[in-house]
Amino acid sequence: MNVNQSAPPVPPFGQPQPIYPGYHQSSYGGQPGSTAPPTPYGAYNGPVPGYQQTPPQGMSRAPPSSGAPPASTAQASCGQATYGQFGQGDVQNGPSSTVQMQRLPGSQPFGSPLAPVVSQPAVLQPYGPPPTSAQVTTQLAGMQISGAVAPAPPTSGLGYGPPTSLASASGSFPNSGLYGSYPQGQAPPIGQAQGYLGVQTPQRSAPSQASSFTPPASGGPRMPSVTGPLLPGQGFGGPPVSQPNHVSSPSPQALPPGTQMTGPPGPPPPMHSPQQPGYQLQQNGSFGPARGPQPNYGSPYPGAPTFGSQPGPPQPLPPKRLDPDAIPSPIQVIEDDRNNRGTEPFVTGVRGQVPPLVTTNFLVKDQGNASPRYIRCTSYNIPCTSDMAKQAQVPLAAVIKPLARLPPEEASPYVVDHGESGPLRCNRCKAYMCPFMQFIEGGRRFQCCFCSCINDVPPQYFQHLDHTGKRVDAYDRPELSLGSYEFLATVDYCKNNKFPSPPAFIFMIDVSYNAIRTGLVRLLCEELKSLLDFLPREGGAEESAIRVGFVTYNKVLHFYNVKSSLAQPQMMVVSDVADMFVPLLDGFLVNVSESRAVITSLLDQIPDMFADTRETETVFAPVIQAGMEALKAAECAGKLFLFHTSLPMAEAPGKLKNRDDRKLINTDKEKTLFQPQTGAYQTLAKECVAQGCCVDLFLFPNQYVDVATLSVVPQLTGGSVYKYACFQVENDQERFLSDLRRDVQKVVGFDAVMRVRTSTGIRAVDFFGAFYMSNTTDVELAGLDGDKTVTVEFKHDDRLNEESGALLQCALLYTSCAGQRRLRIHNLALNCCTQLADLYRNCETDTLINYMAKLAYRGVLNSPLKAVRDTLITQCAQILACYRKNCASPSSAGQLILPECMKLLPVYLNCVLKSDVLQPGAEVTTDDRAYVRQLVTSMDVAETNVFFYPRLLPLTKSPIESTTEPPAVRASEERLSNGDVYLLENGLNLFLWVGASVQQGVVQSLFSVSSFSQITSGLSVLPVLDNPLSKKVRDLIDSLRAQRSRYMKLIVVKQEDKLEMLFKHFLVEDKSLSGGASYVDFLCHMHKEIRQLLS
Ligand SMILES: [Zn+2]
Repeated sequence: MNVNQSAPPVPPFGQPQPIYPGYHQSSYGGQPGSTAPPTPYGAYNGPVPGYQQTPPQGMSRAPPSSGAPPASTAQASCGQATYGQFGQGDVQNGPSSTVQMQRLPGSQPFGSPLAPVVSQPAVLQPYGPPPTSAQVTTQLAGMQISGAVAPAPPTSGLGYGPPTSLASASGSFPNSGLYGSYPQGQAPPIGQAQGYLGVQTPQRSAPSQASSFTPPASGGPRMPSVTGPLLPGQGFGGPPVSQPNHVSSPSPQALPPGTQMTGPPGPPPPMHSPQQPGYQLQQNGSFGPARGPQPNYGSPYPGAPTFGSQPGPPQPLPPKRLDPDAIPSPIQVIEDDRNNRGTEPFVTGVRGQVPPLVTTNFLVKDQGNASPRYIRCTSYNIPCTSDMAKQAQVPLAAVIKPLARLPPEEASPYVVDHGESGPLRCNRCKAYMCPFMQFIEGGRRFQCCFCSCINDVPPQYFQHLDHTGKRVDAYDRPELSLGSYEFLATVDYCKNNKFPSPPAFIFMIDVSYNAIRTGLVRLLCEELKSLLDFLPREGGAEESAIRVGFVTYNKVLHFYNVKSSLAQPQMMVVSDVADMFVPLLDGFLVNVSESRAVITSLLDQIPDMFADTRETETVFAPVIQAGMEALKAAECAGKLFLFHTSLPMAEAPGKLKNRDDRKLINTDKEKTLFQPQTGAYQTLAKECVAQGCCVDLFLFPNQYVDVATLSVVPQLTGGSVYKYACFQVENDQERFLSDLRRDVQKVVGFDAVMRVRTSTGIRAVDFFGAFYMSNTTDVELAGLDGDKTVTVEFKHDDRLNEESGALLQCALLYTSCAGQRRLRIHNLALNCCTQLADLYRNCETDTLINYMAKLAYRGVLNSPLKAVRDTLITQCAQILACYRKNCASPSSAGQLILPECMKLLPVYLNCVLKSDVLQPGAEVTTDDRAYVRQLVTSMDVAETNVFFYPRLLPLTKSPIESTTEPPAVRASEERLSNGDVYLLENGLNLFLWVGASVQQGVVQSLFSVSSFSQITSGLSVLPVLDNPLSKKVRDLIDSLRAQRSRYMKLIVVKQEDKLEMLFKHFLVEDKSLSGGASYVDFLCHMHKEIRQLLS
């Protein structure tokens, strides 16, 4: 029987069948199932009233989730079924009314030269009206020449301070967590350390950092520029050049009336001829190194050469300045997407739909594809051939967060139990049953959507097909109708063919001098007493199944027996750290409620037991080894929580030396700062992964601790690293305790393996994140939590097909917190295209940046940083040049034309290029860079978005009674008004900036002092005052913190205060002190690179 032969290979969803209250599915890619011939099963030839009440037939065991699906899914969105296969992607940043890069009706050959402009009515646009502001035209031509290189007095308070104020990196900034510098004199008094042989006071070779850095030439006095609020009508409304989807620069004649020029009064604007459309910037040497030296600085900054281009001699000609309001604004793009796509749920029934931006609040309805909270792709339309992909240079990658937490309005994945037979899989490629599998022969067989293999349907899984070829029970089975779901795993999926025991948590506390002196140990022990009541538990379980154990250490280890039958805890010391063993099994890992009294007693005693310690030395690798051995002995997976303060210099495996050397910065050896100094930790990590032992590391350093080496095990075991430089209880306890509470309570999958399968034609080739790989396909994660992502890059190995598209299936096998072995499956179908324009119309720049940042941050391990930066710039230029050549309308070479979906690529890429890892400022320590590098590696798209381009929120501009978050402004000093107060956050840092002319009433309301000068700079807590403004600001701070996976400590920064330098580091559209280009300069540079590629 060939009932379904004429059906397309992968059309799992039929027309919506309104009478099934099940998971409504929209028709798929414009291929309605109605073309399928009638099936022989007359009984199912149409809707069967009441069908949904009938239990599925042929099932030996009903899945627990096969009851009535959530009622909310019955509200299937209308109109989805009418989507064409092409053109869904125009919704990315708001559709344009005319889509210039629309495919021609008579399909052009791939790679043809410039297409003529075709103005077509927009294709169906599902989300809101087209914002006219999406048609961006940039004024690259009519730039005013400004005297930016001419020495000028700094503006009052807004200019960068003299270089001397920033060179004093040591000790001048408060401990921000990221940029804490180390005060002197933290070691115990030498005199008191006598009697402890071998005790060394670690010396920090501090002087090198201050002396080896001359301030960048580019960081000189800034010209006064336009500040204050945007004028109405300014920005994107501008020039009437109808180049939809493009950022273009019209000829100077088209200078929009009223365009705001920036820069000081200077020479009159040049009269450009149309043949020279104003693009002289590159010849003028307006980019970083080529800019004329600043009079105030004797020598150019060694790290200044930002770009690969040859720095020309200083040019006498002053550069022109672009109008910052006329170049693509992240704020505008985010706003437009919120307005257009934040109002309706994102329904995942349509293949290849680009989801709303990560900055937009939206609900997701799973109708057959995984939610963008689980998977985001760089493009939702993949080129059909590898040649095309190579030409475009757009990376094909997916950022996957398998255990992502969902908002309360969205249901967690259903758990499907197939009993002893386990989940149904393809015999050949082992893909799991999913909505894209094609049932044939009346339902007796199915064709695998990944490898095309024909498989028999086991009798217990048999079900009849309806007239569209769809199983009649499709909507009752999550695995046949949803993008994401879970299977209960059988014993075959378990280590040693044994169902796992519940995992264990081991708390391992450094009790050396530094940990005791700062009050950390006391604080931590006190907190653990209550926190242990909040260990993760599953579903409605009354108490957590997780067992706990305790170890303290300095250069020896102390294990504790906290067996419930004991009156007092017992300590066992292991001093042979070279050959670590676990001295006790019974009583080490215990149930919290059973052993509560003993545990409480232990936690009370620990701070006192070590109160008088003078031991400054610590070990590190033996601690991890001990925890891992303890889990091995208990035959369970688990997590180690390490609280550690110093470079482990005691004689032991994994002993480290201080090898920090800032002189390596900007040399070919800089990469060694990111590499671990010994291979011992990789070996240890491998053992941990085999045991399912995940390591979370909390660091409290007073000086260099070699984060690059200490984070190896957390990184390879799927753990997290937290760093609290110069920890002091009074200043930092809120941040530490918030992070700790969240970390201990979060749901984790243990002993996990993730595999990404793809349909024929593409293949996963590269992986980024916190995990270990022992082969080329399996991502091994000792632990995986809901914050961590795995980024996967795909490459072609065959031609793809427009009709069948491309499929991804991510399968994560893991042990839940309760010890249940499960498989979580996420499926995603993507479109494939033969036209480059389709690729460019369906890209997601935020995801692209996430991937590119991870690629670059891994690159620094092996390549000089300049090479890494140059590679990024070149790739970006190639992407944009390919668009220009193949998709854009013919225009003069002086125009910079950017695809609508990628118009923020230059600004965001510049933020990556000038980030601390790739281009460090003088105040950034080696440990800071290693820390950030490993953090970014497993960040999701929302986190990288705000991390690289911080949010800057004016607090007193919107009415006080307004309850919504104030609209953000661009991260540039020009946007700061000295009469206002701003919050800036990037997911790790949070600043409150107070302008010098802010109203006295505002100062009083927020700080309870009478004038600006009385505000304490560096304040980290706002007073709780009973007035609307104070409440609003504190609420906003709470709300920002709640959105982020780590607690952001507040730092109050006053305008003109020395702390302001720290704050300005985050104004990423401006030129940075470390030599990073301003957005305007970078855009010009990118234009030049593109032009070179095109000529
Ligand atoms: Zn298969």
